[in-house]
Amino acid sequence: LPVLAVVGRPNVGKSTLVNRIIGRREAVVEDVPGVTRDRVTYEADWAGRRFLVQDTGGWEPDAKGLQQAVARQADVAMRTADAILLVVDAVVGATATDEAVAKVLRRSKTPVILVANKVDDARVEAEAAALWSLGLGEPQPISASHGRGTGDLLDLVLATLPSTPRDDGVIGVGPRRVALVGKPNVGKSSLLNKLSGDERSVVHDVAGTTVDPVDSLVELGGRVWRFVDTAGLRKRVGQAKGAEFYASLRTRGAIEAAELVVLLLDAAEPITEQDQRVLGMVVDAGRALVIAFNKWDLVDEDRRYTLRSEIERDLAHVTWAPRVNISAKTGRAVQKLVPAMETALDSWDKRISTGQLNSWLKEVVAATPPPMRGGRLPRVLFATQAATRPPTFVLFTTGFLEAGYRRFLERRLREEFGFDGSPVRVSVRVRE
Ligand code: GDP
Repeated sequence: LPVLAVVGRPNVGKSTLVNRIIGRREAVVEDVPGVTRDRVTYEADWAGRRFLVQDTGGWEPDAKGLQQAVARQADVAMRTADAILLVVDAVVGATATDEAVAKVLRRSKTPVILVANKVDDARVEAEAAALWSLGLGEPQPISASHGRGTGDLLDLVLATLPSTPRDDGVIGVGPRRVALVGKPNVGKSSLLNKLSGDERSVVHDVAGTTVDPVDSLVELGGRVWRFVDTAGLRKRVGQAKGAEFYASLRTRGAIEAAELVVLLLDAAEPITEQDQRVLGMVVDAGRALVIAFNKWDLVDEDRRYTLRSEIERDLAHVTWAPRVNISAKTGRAVQKLVPAMETALDSWDKRISTGQLNSWLKEVVAATPPPMRGGRLPRVLFATQAATRPPTFVLFTTGFLEAGYRRFLERRLREEFGFDGSPVRVSVRVRE
């Protein structure tokens, strides 16, 4: 289950909030400064989704003082949780300790939600707004003891928590999974043979794992890659006519099984509808993508010219995908595929810290505000990266954002942070 960590200095109401989240009203633990509690984890459920709440209790100042202890807790949360709530007392305002922990959390790549607690009525909301100064985006005003605003907060938490827990332990451990796809005869098996040096560098067993016989493990650029579902590629068996439906099904399966897709297009022939369909599958599945134009040895000056306009027309929606011109037959530029594949996966895995994201957002929106809707200017409040693989962002606004403006933001997001080779998803939540 995904983990939500609750951090904050003593007496801000963390335990009350944790009890509110887990729906247990009795066992409210007093937040007494100096009383050490261990980190405790509870199971919670909101709107049918289960997650774990980690109360990073022990904020006892050690020899180095409270700020050190707080910073250390924030550090633990950043390493172990999928989302972090930083709880601040809105009535007291930001203390030096709050600022110290905010400073640590601004670097966090785990999404951070700033919670302004003890906003028992509307009068305290101005105090809550002052906490913008912590540089963690919009403060969420709540009253943990009265329950005011906690429902909205939990909606926000759910939007932020990934559906699957963080898998840092897995990233980079097993071979990355690649699907080599493209229409029949585009050169998939030739390329796989070229890449694997006619099978000499194919590894059949890595660290004791038995390889699924339909996959090929190939060492490229100093690491091992798992090319999924290549059984049919190596041995060109029974490519019966009329098997297109099954081929398409198989392609879809390979894309689903992969993290990265290398789509082979025939550079010597026009881009087809079938190519477009496969491209659509990759984007819908949210996989990293590299486009390889194969048979480049057959491309002359004229073809190069027409290809350029085909690319502009047919690949306009995937300008973010690296393109490599190769020849599986001669081996031309085949080695350029590997860095492109690495770039695409780096983008796919990339996480932008909440602080970075929001300072960028503030600048962009100030320079180019969204267009008016129904006589009102929607405000863009706050953004958070809810997921990686592919990078998925949630924007919180006070009103509907037009598709054109959303695309503008996505474009600027790509320019600023660089997501070559990966789809990026941006969704908008309107808060009343
Ligand atoms: P697959 O069906 O996608 O696996 O395609 P194959 O790898 O079997 O290749 C189909 C045909 O295209 C074979 O005759 C290959 O020799 C040829 N071919 C593959 N790559 C190239 C290339 O880069 N240039 C040229 N000229 N022919 C190629």
